[in-house]
Amino acid sequence: MEEIENLKPQAERLAEIYALSGRDDLVRYAERILGCSTRLTYRHAPERDKPCSMALNVDEINWCRVRLCPPCSLAKSGKLRAKLFKVVPRIREALPTHQFVFLTLTCRNDLVANSRQTIGILNDGWRRLSRLKNFPAVGALRSIEVTMPYDVYYQGRFIDRMGDKSFKVWCRQNNPNWNQLEKRPTDECNWHLHCLLIVPQCYFSGYRYWNHDIWVDNWQQSARLSYQPVVEVHKVTPRSKGQTLDEAILEISKYTTKPDDLIQSPEWTIELTDQIKGIKSYSVSGVFRDFIRQNELDRLEATGNLGDEQKQDGAIVRFTWNYQTKSYNLVQLGSLHYD
Ligand SMILES: [Zn+2]
Repeated sequence: MEEIENLKPQAERLAEIYALSGRDDLVRYAERILGCSTRLTYRHAPERDKPCSMALNVDEINWCRVRLCPPCSLAKSGKLRAKLFKVVPRIREALPTHQFVFLTLTCRNDLVANSRQTIGILNDGWRRLSRLKNFPAVGALRSIEVTMPYDVYYQGRFIDRMGDKSFKVWCRQNNPNWNQLEKRPTDECNWHLHCLLIVPQCYFSGYRYWNHDIWVDNWQQSARLSYQPVVEVHKVTPRSKGQTLDEAILEISKYTTKPDDLIQSPEWTIELTDQIKGIKSYSVSGVFRDFIRQNELDRLEATGNLGDEQKQDGAIVRFTWNYQTKSYNLVQLGSLHYD
């Protein structure tokens, strides 16, 4: 609940952007977002595996299902994350010698108005890459993400156009005074693909191994780019050395857009809303499909549900959103006695 509450200000700002657009379709989005997650119903019950402790489980929330709505995006990525935490141990059990690799494929920033074209480059590039004869993965889960690069000014002087990562690096190197730092929104997007790959153990030791340079070359050719793209690739480790499986799951299940980016520039947000219509956030291929199906992912996108939700037991606890105090009010606390 706290997480949803924290996103409410961004949701209101997004609704304002849509409401002021003067477009009927977006005004309707605004109305839906303002009415989103205003009624939360939980069930208070003993935890499944620990009957001595109690848990508050979500029973029902009135999501608005607008594609970029921050609380709805949080819910969708939370559901995928929970699903993956269940599914990954099953994959490890079924394919005990296989390993996970986390791959990020990028192309250069482009105008938000060219997003469909950029997404086409990424998706077509992935298709060609994954069909290469020596492609090492036997299965993949893919998510597409977009961030806005910002123009960074320091002490009134333009420094550079930076993405999230380069901004963090610059801050570490320059230790800036935050009062003299300004980030201005741009009209560009950085689109990239995150891929969780399942590879056979022999990939790491044999001739099939792709080092970083091979990944960059193959991605450049598959995506037909005229420049060397940025590619990140890491073996996912069960322990804390390098990227752990838990971290990889958190990264892959993130939703397409950060709420912070959505509230900087109405033009960018409205253009993005139009550009991503019908674009899938998550895709699954190869043996990954034995564990999570594309139609589950599509259902999650469209409805916010994976289709495997279970009815919760326990006493009802209800909260409603208070538009004045901008917080949730407890409106019903059911009996905590059980048979
Ligand atoms: Zn919503």
